[in-house]
Amino acid sequence: MPHPLTEFLNPEQAAAVELPAEHALILAGAGSGKTRVLTTRIAWLISTGQVSPAGILGVTFTNKAAKEMLARLTAMLPLNPRGLWIGTFHGLCNRMLRLHHRDAGLPATFAILDSADQLAAIKRVMKALNIDDERYPPKATQHFINGQKENGTRAAGVQVWDDYSRTLAGIYAEYEAQCQREGVVDFAELLLACYELLERNAALREHYRSRFRHILVDEFQDTNRLQYAWLKLLAGESNAMFAVGDDDQSIYAFRGANVGNMYDFQRDFAVKHVIRLEQNYRSHGHILDAANAVIANNRERLGKQLWTNDVAGEPIRVFEAMSDFGEAEFIVEEISQLQRDGLDLNEVAILYRSNAQSRVLEHALVQANVPYRVYGGLRFYERQEIKHALAYLRLIANPDDDNALLRIINFPTRGIGNRTIETIQETARVTGTSLWLAACSSGAGRSGAAVGRFVQMIDGLRRQVEGLPLPELVSAVLDQSGLQEHYRNDKEGEERLANLDELVNAAASFVTDDENDLIAFLANASLEGGEHAAGAGQMAVQLMTIHAAKGLEFHSVFLTGIEEGLFPHENSAAEPKGLEEERRLMYVAITRARRRLYLSLAQSRMLHGQSRYAIASRFLDEIPQELLHYLNRGYAPQTYSAPTAAPKQKTPDHGLAIGMTVKHPKFGIGVVIDHEGGATGNVQVNFRDVGPKWLAVGYAKLEPVSS
Ligand code: ATP
Ligand code: MG
Repeated sequence: MPHPLTEFLNPEQAAAVELPAEHALILAGAGSGKTRVLTTRIAWLISTGQVSPAGILGVTFTNKAAKEMLARLTAMLPLNPRGLWIGTFHGLCNRMLRLHHRDAGLPATFAILDSADQLAAIKRVMKALNIDDERYPPKATQHFINGQKENGTRAAGVQVWDDYSRTLAGIYAEYEAQCQREGVVDFAELLLACYELLERNAALREHYRSRFRHILVDEFQDTNRLQYAWLKLLAGESNAMFAVGDDDQSIYAFRGANVGNMYDFQRDFAVKHVIRLEQNYRSHGHILDAANAVIANNRERLGKQLWTNDVAGEPIRVFEAMSDFGEAEFIVEEISQLQRDGLDLNEVAILYRSNAQSRVLEHALVQANVPYRVYGGLRFYERQEIKHALAYLRLIANPDDDNALLRIINFPTRGIGNRTIETIQETARVTGTSLWLAACSSGAGRSGAAVGRFVQMIDGLRRQVEGLPLPELVSAVLDQSGLQEHYRNDKEGEERLANLDELVNAAASFVTDDENDLIAFLANASLEGGEHAAGAGQMAVQLMTIHAAKGLEFHSVFLTGIEEGLFPHENSAAEPKGLEEERRLMYVAITRARRRLYLSLAQSRMLHGQSRYAIASRFLDEIPQELLHYLNRGYAPQTYSAPTAAPKQKTPDHGLAIGMTVKHPKFGIGVVIDHEGGATGNVQVNFRDVGPKWLAVGYAKLEPVSS
């Protein structure tokens, strides 16, 4: 008789769930139930008494995915989620380092630098070392340092062969020293420090090895070398590793992901069980056919074909807009219709290749009053006011956190100028102490007094909030730091104040079994990014990059910006490897949709402050035409080639020149910001009340206004 947990799985899935405690690789395409199999296996192992919940180490790719996995698990079994080690690589390493911070050589209060903090920290190092940031762009330096860390290489071990590489190694070394001094770790460091801890400390390694009998890894195709090495270290000789992955969905090469790990795993672990799943349960037939057709153009694949028993469903809808604003407008109208038809907004996703695309989409959603939530990119925790608030909290938790101090020492303004800050930095450098200590011993004079007041305020706050419950603590800091006051006086501060309130809400709903809940809260904030952004529980359209959508599924998906240059991205399209990675991204994007898929493109779009023209993505041509339904073919195609056929005129003959103020009967006053196609073409007007819109010159009643 089948076990109740596997009763509704297909035979291959059930076999995978019930494998003996040996290494296994589940190699399968999108939506074939990999994550479901992995989750069910955890439940099955526990419920059949083969392992206790504490004996499981489960690794997923995003916090959102980890949460979903925990939710599914606790629905299958009555479990206390706190005792379970299921999370992302970063989250799990963070947890281990907190527990063993002394052995890892870290302060108990170590803070996590997110990517922007890390960049700021690197810039400081470069400034102190007097390094030319034109020759050594900080971003490239950051990439270099992270790359080294992901290969497990410390500054001392970096290979140098010329002045250039010697300088980079020097920056890395100084950056390492600075992080150590400040008691902070970046994302890559979480992994490397944890790896080194386990490698160095045999007792600890044995402890975890004898604990985690089953290691289960989702999205295995996107692990990097260091993550793989970490897993290997924990697996040891006797633990069972269960890896699931899809080579066609490997989309993180730019961050060091190594599909080769799938081959290495089979070899290094002498994997006995390789199971393929080919039935897709997620998408209707047309959607799946489109995904299969696109990915078939890639050469480097292990090769598998997905099929479904499901109906063919609707065709894929294609919409060609004049501009990115038109695209956004269309999407919002469709979403409103879907909502009227009774679909939950949570079941609708808008996906884009580049973060920069989200702003226009967000704008349209706001205008139409459609609630939405952004994952990744413009994260809640990356918003200025939140970063300021967190910096206060971080400085209270750990006075040696120099990044935090620098962010807020003069925010809100309190008369501490750059010169004073530089003096403090210099003192800290000479005496080898943190900025906080240097600030404490700051000299006399007017600026010295201002620094003194700052030090007193932080010291006072630290004493005052000790022992307070987290939400009250956060409230007190927002109030006494002057942050709330500052934004109250700010014209555009309303939204920022709302965000600060939301931070108190986040603190109120935060649960941890960590003794120091402030530290845990701050770590969580760094790791989670925007996942608390919209009001918890509120239905909202899900906005995210395709990268962030991996592993997720939605009833309806709007895949935007299907244009050459944007998708495939111009940086990647030129070389075959890059193009294949873009195509895998397209495959991931299409396979997120269960029932309905929209592909949209815009003939012109504002990108990085410039209006640019585009033609349809080659990926659109790779989908068999019979699967597509063009929503607005007929008027779009002839203007579609407009960019080459009708180059933009300098002074259009309709006289509506860029910069001119105009009036529209419905939209009101605006300024012409772009035009295309002469007297029969279009102009883009940025209206004061409704934002930018493309309008047809021949029809729109636009009147010049003398300003
Ligand atoms: P991805 O590659 O995108 O991560 P996946 O292989 O992990 O996809 P899942 O997310 O586990 O796929 O499953 C896709 C969908 O199919 C889910 O809604 C899941 O519940 C459903 N599903 C999986 N297996 C079955 C099954 N045997 N019967 C019914 N539904 C199933
Ligand atoms: Mg999955």
